[in-house]
Amino acid sequence: MLECNWRDGKWETTHIKPYGPIQVEPSCKVFHYGQAIFEGMKAYKDEAGDVFLFRPEDNWKRFNESAKRLAMPEVPYEVFVEGLKTLVNLDKEWVKYGEGLSLYLRPFMIASENGVAAAPSTEYKFMIVMSPAFAYYRGEVRVIIANQFSRAADGGVGYAKAAGNYAASFYPNNLAMEEGYQQIIWTDAASHEYIEEAGTMNIFVRIGDKLLTAPSNDRILNGVTRRSVIQMAKDHGIEVEERRIRVSEIKEAAQNGELKEIFGSGTAAVIVPIKGFKHEDFKYELPVIENDYATNIKAALMDIQYNRTEDKHGWRV
Ligand code: PMP
Repeated sequence: MLECNWRDGKWETTHIKPYGPIQVEPSCKVFHYGQAIFEGMKAYKDEAGDVFLFRPEDNWKRFNESAKRLAMPEVPYEVFVEGLKTLVNLDKEWVKYGEGLSLYLRPFMIASENGVAAAPSTEYKFMIVMSPAFAYYRGEVRVIIANQFSRAADGGVGYAKAAGNYAASFYPNNLAMEEGYQQIIWTDAASHEYIEEAGTMNIFVRIGDKLLTAPSNDRILNGVTRRSVIQMAKDHGIEVEERRIRVSEIKEAAQNGELKEIFGSGTAAVIVPIKGFKHEDFKYELPVIENDYATNIKAALMDIQYNRTEDKHGWRV
């Protein structure tokens, strides 16, 4: 694991050491005010045994946007990106070769000052931990479109990878699971009329031949996979619209047969097709179609991640 502490207004020397417990006091601010952010990314191995990160600078930039919003110090490129490279190089035996296999990388930062005053911490701990990850398949995914709970508000922290965003999503997600659904499609907090994210993934909807995705705003996490899916779709000649998508538009498209696919995008599984959804009393099962966008775009992205094709956008590092 990698560790770098911020004290007296600056980053100290970075250390890499074996994974193990860290010592913090009970008054450590992260426990009281939730000043904590993280990133999620992966390292992939190709057939020749070379190891690659995927768009790591994008995660570094997003991490620092999260840091800014949570009144935390930004982490320098040398610590975050160079630190990741050094760490992954040291442990590259843990990146296994095989379809869907990877080493999951988890950079995070916590407020580490002791004290219970509700003010930003004056000390922070940045760390990176890693874990081998299997191909991610959780069976068929059906979702509830939220009509009461929301994950983020206007002017809030939805666009940041703030730890508390995830804590707040667990209870509504548990309720959905009790009803036999695996995930929630989050809608906008103000009206619940527009879809925003699919659990901890960005959302895509195919109506006819057009691919729609919710725009980036202060409630939605600007996914690295989302941006890559949009680019891949465009490269494949698919028309993509980044705009607000009404729940009613999806239901109408379902009723008139124009709704072809819904899928989520994220680092964990690249793309997760959604098999069915429920919104209030309306239930719908997506059709099984040939040559679907989800399968094709996922394959194209994985070919880049595993170094099986030319990387014309320069995403492999
Ligand atoms: N939305 C949320 C809320 C997430 O937690 C994630 C996972 N980081 C995503 C979207 C997908 O982002 P990415 O493609 O960068 O993994």
